Amino acid sequence: MTRTVFVNGTYVDEMEAKVSVFDRGFLFSDAVYEVTAVIEKKLVSWEGHTGRMRRSLGEIGINLDMSNDHLLEVHRKLLELNEVQEGLVYLQITRGGAADRDFEFPDRTIVKPTTVLFTQEKNLIHNQKLDSGLKVISFPDLRWGRSDIKSTQLLYASMIKQKALDQGKDEAWFVKDGLVIEGSSNNTFILSQDGKLITRNLSRDILAGITRDAILEYSKSSGYIIEERPFSVEEAKKSKEAFICSSTTFILPVVEIDDCKIGSGKPGKNTLKLREIYIKNITKELV
Ligand code: PMP
Repeated sequence: MTRTVFVNGTYVDEMEAKVSVFDRGFLFSDAVYEVTAVIEKKLVSWEGHTGRMRRSLGEIGINLDMSNDHLLEVHRKLLELNEVQEGLVYLQITRGGAADRDFEFPDRTIVKPTTVLFTQEKNLIHNQKLDSGLKVISFPDLRWGRSDIKSTQLLYASMIKQKALDQGKDEAWFVKDGLVIEGSSNNTFILSQDGKLITRNLSRDILAGITRDAILEYSKSSGYIIEERPFSVEEAKKSKEAFICSSTTFILPVVEIDDCKIGSGKPGKNTLKLREIYIKNITKELV
């Protein structure tokens, strides 16, 4: 069965969907996106995603004339049309297509953004990697200096993820000056030997993960002591537990970093408990 996707106001079969070859998303990665998880046919952390999307659009000056209510309606309609029980909804917004390829931005009163939404089925609750955990390799962070914007410039992230897989590992972490920045498409946490949950503080260096934010809230109310600060690869290697988090993985244990075992080399107990707490809480707030 082919999917129905949404392109600039219309619902169309994925095989019929069209975007201009002059679209700036295609020519310049002049675009931002969001990914919202779906469980029990409903959206996870909807408000967080729309809030971050508006911020990303504002930072690069794209004017989207669709309300959040309208966007929610489109998300729901696609889930219904594509009969998605569990998975993801992608929302891609580009600056649109001008008549010619030029570096300068086109006139906003003439060229309107391109808006595309599509669904993707994925098992989120039963993740195959939960039993084994993830083996991670670190790579220098060679991305641009605005990783807080959820831009579609994902080439370098995609390259390091592939390099990690080619080396028989599962995930790649960006590192700068010995400090862990974030994962290729996720945020990172460690649990120190004395039981503190540590995650890098927000700045232009990382994406403000919606999952990261929810974990901070839920773990605080479960009694964990939190430290939002940079931590090094060396500190991570000596930690009791480590994990990644994102809308597409929720929380997944990390069992190895650069060939060094974390803790016992098995998924950490606290990590698995936090994953349970996270799923229990988001399930109460589905939209
Ligand atoms: N950092 C990066 C670089 C990402 O691509 C993602 C996934 N979108 C995240 C962090 C996690 O963000 P979220 O929890 O909102 O999915």
